[in-house]
Amino acid sequence: MNSKYELNELFSQETVHLSALITADGEKNIYDAVSRCLRCGYCETSCPTYSLKLNEIYSPRGRNQLVRKLVEGKIKGANTAYESLKTCLLCGACSEVCYGKVPTADLVLEARREMPGHGKNFYYKIAAAVTSRKKIFNLILKLLYLLKKAGLPKIADKLGFFYFLNLRGISEAQKKSLPTPLKFLTETLDKDERFKNPVKLSWIYFSPCGTEFIHTEVGKATVELLYKIYGDGIIMKNECCGLTAYNYGSLSEAKSAAQKNIVLYDEIRTKFSDAPIILDCSSCAAFLKSYPSLFAKDDPMRNKAEFFSSCVKDITEFIKPIHIEHLVDFKRLSEIRVTIHDSCRASHAQGIRKEIRDVLKPLLKDNLVEMPQSDHCCGGAGAFAFSNPDISQDILKKKIENISSVRPDIVIASSTSCLIQIETGLREMYPKAKIMHYSVFLKNSVNL
Ligand code: SF4
Ligand code: SF4
Repeated sequence: MNSKYELNELFSQETVHLSALITADGEKNIYDAVSRCLRCGYCETSCPTYSLKLNEIYSPRGRNQLVRKLVEGKIKGANTAYESLKTCLLCGACSEVCYGKVPTADLVLEARREMPGHGKNFYYKIAAAVTSRKKIFNLILKLLYLLKKAGLPKIADKLGFFYFLNLRGISEAQKKSLPTPLKFLTETLDKDERFKNPVKLSWIYFSPCGTEFIHTEVGKATVELLYKIYGDGIIMKNECCGLTAYNYGSLSEAKSAAQKNIVLYDEIRTKFSDAPIILDCSSCAAFLKSYPSLFAKDDPMRNKAEFFSSCVKDITEFIKPIHIEHLVDFKRLSEIRVTIHDSCRASHAQGIRKEIRDVLKPLLKDNLVEMPQSDHCCGGAGAFAFSNPDISQDILKKKIENISSVRPDIVIASSTSCLIQIETGLREMYPKAKIMHYSVFLKNSVNL
């Protein structure tokens, strides 16, 4: 650390923190990064929680000042700042408009790592051990899904089964009538001979957890599109990207997941050739692109992480209009009114907005309608909807109001968390419209 302030005792030596955060002036340590917030307040109106509560503790400026005071040792215990830190959506809207690119979401996360219990409690450790062992996790999820199909999810919940595994998010998700596929995505794709021996490797599909375990139809649509448009590709058989561990657990677990995926990609490159890594969940795509920040500059993994992240593409930026226009069935699209919800991790984290419109506008013409605040968070934000249900619900209501104001039949999104959240909101408040993943919409619009 170059600053005169070392991380104080609140930022304990036992907890692993990012060595540097990315700002407009390059990489900075935590104190120097948070010191770049000059309290101008320019970001306030972009922040969904501040817009809702109109209280500084729910604003980016307020959160940055709390983090700064924590690092300086002027607040005793991260718990004092708990409400402010816990209610940040980590959406990144503030950093996008901030002239100094103060990385508020990352700063909030570094402070959260110091909260008692964050990623350290017994239940979390059991859940982390289970989720990092894919075969065991698959079996447990299937058991949960079977219980639901047998009409027993409440019993399982009451028995403490979900709670024991700290999978309350899944327990809540069950109440949202989510798909509960008994065959997960890569189990189906693994049997498909088309993806086994590529003559010329054009793409590598990375299966995000939300697609793998819940919305399997999204992954199937993505892979069909990739195969039809670009030719041979393979399924990566990846680990979880590590985002859940990064947000809710420990940085070392996130690094370990990143390392496994980077090594796996190296093996594929050695066996076949370089090819873009394609994802259909913008949250995971954005996290894969941020892998280099998990490793210090002198870490031997850093260069590999930089190369890996340079190969990552969100499906929303990968497909170009020229690649798809000739396949489109315009008749099917003539009566459909569509709007786009710009998922936070596509828009704020990756700057993807125009790319989706460049593809959809020629297909839909005037039937593509823009909702107000299309890039405002829907309140899903990973597990936010489960950890802050009241705020999440209020943010969702605003999103559904914005959607219904343009009277669409279909709302397009690109993160699994948004699919889950907006589906619930539409069902309750505007059932005329359906939420659909970008890949599924394109697959339904073309002749494959
Ligand atoms: S985060 Fe950026 S925009 Fe917001 S108050 Fe600080 S300096 Fe201003
Ligand atoms: S990351 Fe989102 S919720 Fe958090 S302070 Fe920034 S704009 Fe507000």
